[in-house]
Amino acid sequence: MRGSFQIGRLFGIPIRVHYLFFALLALFAIIDARRGGARAGLEGALLITTLFGCVVLHELGHSLVARRYGVRVASITLLPIGGVAMMDRIPEDPNKELTIAIAGPLVNLGIAAVLGGIVYALYPGRPFILSEHMAFLPKMVVLNVGLAVFNLIPAFPMDGGRILRALLATRIEYTRATGIAASIGRFTAFGFGALGILALFAGNPFLLFIALFVYVGATQEERAVRMRALMRNVPVSYAMTTGFGIAAPWEPIGAVLGRAAQTFQRVFLVTHEDRLAGVLTYEAMANAMQQRGAMTTVGDVMRADYPMASPYDSLLQTHETMAERDAPVVPVVYMDRVVGLLTAESIGNYFLAASRSPYGMGGGWAPRA
Ligand SMILES: [Zn+2]
Repeated sequence: MRGSFQIGRLFGIPIRVHYLFFALLALFAIIDARRGGARAGLEGALLITTLFGCVVLHELGHSLVARRYGVRVASITLLPIGGVAMMDRIPEDPNKELTIAIAGPLVNLGIAAVLGGIVYALYPGRPFILSEHMAFLPKMVVLNVGLAVFNLIPAFPMDGGRILRALLATRIEYTRATGIAASIGRFTAFGFGALGILALFAGNPFLLFIALFVYVGATQEERAVRMRALMRNVPVSYAMTTGFGIAAPWEPIGAVLGRAAQTFQRVFLVTHEDRLAGVLTYEAMANAMQQRGAMTTVGDVMRADYPMASPYDSLLQTHETMAERDAPVVPVVYMDRVVGLLTAESIGNYFLAASRSPYGMGGGWAPRA
């Protein structure tokens, strides 16, 4: 993630911190220090750091369970709003999703139980008195329970939303389960929004942020799942573009951009002595033109590593490969010939057209003998 750097590894997973997290840390330390002096400032900073340590353990809980199911975990990043585990897509298996989602909150409940036991042993009788001067350990117990409860709210993008979807998906179809879970999420968001407006009068904008966060998260998840359901039954040939240009590695990009302007071609196949050498997007050329000038050669700008697909491959699978390998263009090859190029734009164009066609839509390509 941009703006973050690695601070270490846990179980082989890189742990990264966004620099804004330190801004948050400084902010809390300053607020506490102004209220109670340097010591209070230090305590405030320690509390936030420990709390975010618990957030890392929460994400680690998701990650380790996911990894047991063969999901690759690229990193865990601490942001000021919480933690994010960057992982490959979670399998659409309700049981696996349920276990992965529940693992995070369970970690926090586990931490709370252990610390709670320690607190109880230290202060038998009256361990949890909520007050301004509550000691460090009881505070951590309460905060960890809070983290677990907050994450269990049954709304996307919280863990609770995933748990709810997984529970629904054991009985009904996955897309419908997502739709229902997303509706509940949006409903929850409106609830938060109403409370948030009241809280805003009390000078606290926090709930309103959460409402927005939940609403956007729920809507995005629903859209992503719907898109996946649409893609599942479409072959690559339907969504590829056949209107691509050809360029040679030695050509200056200025010349190719000139051709692109005349032909409306947005994507180019780079061939060298009749062999495929790379792929090139209009955006990559335009950027290179701005930074390095018109005489930069196609060979310097093209992508030479790219996945390939057959016209009959599943669009869903190919789209996932594009995301995994960060490939903007996929050559579609039939009988050793490139018959089309698949790009995010061509996929978007296909679905835009298909969504307006009451009879469904096929592709413009058919194999020729
Ligand atoms: Zn979580």
